[in-house]
Amino acid sequence: MRLLWPFATALLFSITGAASAQTSPPALLLRPAAVFDGETLHLGWAVLTEGNRIKAVGPAAQLQAPTGARTLELPGLTLLPGLIEGHSHLLLHPYNETPWNDQVLLESEALRVARATVHARQTLEAGFTTARDLGTEGAGYADVGLKQAIDQGLIPGPRLLVATRALVATGSYGPKLSVDVDVPQGAQEADGTDGIIRAVREQIGKGADIIKVYADYRWGPNEPSRPTFTQEELNLIVQTARSAGRPVVAHASTPEGMRRATLAGVQTIEHGDGGTLDVFKLMKQRGVALCPTVAAGDAISRYRGWQPGQVPEPERIRQKRESMRLALQSGVELAVGGDVGVFQHGDNLREAEHLVQNYGLSPLQVLRGLTATNARLFQLPDRGRLQPGLLADLIAVPGDPTQDIKTLRQIQLVVKGGVVVKE
Ligand SMILES: [Zn+2]
Repeated sequence: MRLLWPFATALLFSITGAASAQTSPPALLLRPAAVFDGETLHLGWAVLTEGNRIKAVGPAAQLQAPTGARTLELPGLTLLPGLIEGHSHLLLHPYNETPWNDQVLLESEALRVARATVHARQTLEAGFTTARDLGTEGAGYADVGLKQAIDQGLIPGPRLLVATRALVATGSYGPKLSVDVDVPQGAQEADGTDGIIRAVREQIGKGADIIKVYADYRWGPNEPSRPTFTQEELNLIVQTARSAGRPVVAHASTPEGMRRATLAGVQTIEHGDGGTLDVFKLMKQRGVALCPTVAAGDAISRYRGWQPGQVPEPERIRQKRESMRLALQSGVELAVGGDVGVFQHGDNLREAEHLVQNYGLSPLQVLRGLTATNARLFQLPDRGRLQPGLLADLIAVPGDPTQDIKTLRQIQLVVKGGVVVKE
């Protein structure tokens, strides 16, 4: 204890120093052509921010700028909540640049973190002010430090929810080389009651906001995914995380992996490519949302030489189209997240565009998904809508994004916590 005390004192000083150095941002009066509040478009509305929060939202004539406020005239633009990325990997970069195995095995953590700082800026500049970052894929707890660097204002980036290492059943994940060598894995192996409880607690203790579990995976190359953890193991993961106030998200693409994860009580299922109508109905009944990551499958198929429009479609794409049809039929809730990292960071909008162009969702539905719905599903009541008291995370785009999702490609303004970060 005596040994630790000087460190504790130093820590206290540095925190106090950082806090006193921060000044509250000046109030902003934003006067666009329209405001999308997370649910509905309102013509002629304006937004007033004060400090890092939204102070008022409503018809422009009713909002008065206080003294010292900065007024931003945004003619022809729609103002909306900062977008929420549902599934990213800031510590990965596109697999057509470097295969996943090589990123995990050959790239140093320093290199990966340096890249991730660039990815974080690209994400923010694309209008995504929050991201659920679902696993470092071999880069340990680097996401925790990345999140701290962003929160301390050292580097620009979105508000992060981090999953740290993620959990896999022993032997189920990769990279896999010769059986004679044990190589570092892209996630933490854990099994059985003691092992699982310990791993979940360890990740939470080191900063995980979310526990990510791989409920199924390919046990060997060139074979289909099959379940990994038992029902009891998944239940234990959710119970252990929940008692510490953390949700669990499950990677799953097989009906059985998805069923077990749903019964265990995860918050979302990622991918769900092989989902059946029955399993999607079970998810709906249990309040488990699907984050379909349609952009990732598309990107991987393209890396393997497929070009959209080419027939026949790869099996992966055909299966995704069919399972998405069943998901929409079941009424399961959809989170919007693209598994960005498989493809270029900053190109986050790809998922939303695919959902509209290839899967029949309306631009309004997807826009709500990127804002209010993602916030609700991820239990983030302080964002995703424009309402007094919520975080002042805002973006502005030309035209009407409720009619044309592609307008979100033309980000004219990004405000994060009441601070203009892109103009
Ligand atoms: Zn992923």
